[in-house]
Amino acid sequence: MRGLATGLRVTLQAMTRRAVTGQYPDVVPALPPRSRGVIALLEENCTVCMLCARECPDWCIYIDSHKDVIPAREEGARDRTRNVLDRFAIDFALCMYCGICVEVCPFDALFWSPEFEYAELDISDLTHERDRLREWMHTVPPPPALDPGAAEPKELAAARKAVAGPAAAPTGDPARRTVSRGGPAGRRPRTPPPEPAS
Ligand code: SF4
Ligand code: SF4
Repeated sequence: MRGLATGLRVTLQAMTRRAVTGQYPDVVPALPPRSRGVIALLEENCTVCMLCARECPDWCIYIDSHKDVIPAREEGARDRTRNVLDRFAIDFALCMYCGICVEVCPFDALFWSPEFEYAELDISDLTHERDRLREWMHTVPPPPALDPGAAEPKELAAARKAVAGPAAAPTGDPARRTVSRGGPAGRRPRTPPPEPAS
């Protein structure tokens, strides 16, 4: 008897509660900025280390590359080689949005975008090639603001020195460049890794 009363009470509560049905697509849901919608690629930061493709549990990241030989700058020095990206694609029909690739990328080349409206009629169109993955970079939100009193990230200091010019930056590697994530100014700049040599 007590169980029946509890069941009726729960039913009545549910009947009188306001419906929370989302009216999508008429009303676009307000998603948290860090939602996992689609993965974006910042090609400039990718060194073709293959770590993301190796760690992906679904094997849905496809990377092709070749090696370029960079002639030695000085006599007697060895030529260097550099990986050049030929293809970078993610098959979102297989992806399970675990985020491992974004986490393991050591060079900040992969980011989550909250965009989710990329449904297709043909499943093969869910494989996004590098150009499309790059386009998603425009939808990646800026990183959250630092806590008050937090130490300035070293990337920011390096970018400030680079903007001020060599006179203001007497130390450090002059060849070091800073690449910011595409989009509005004010986003935290990211420092690209040195090109791998072999
Ligand atoms: S989110 Fe997970 S499944 Fe999807 S591409 Fe990255 S590692 Fe693979
Ligand atoms: S882990 Fe990062 S740097 Fe390495 S291949 Fe993947 S995206 Fe490029």
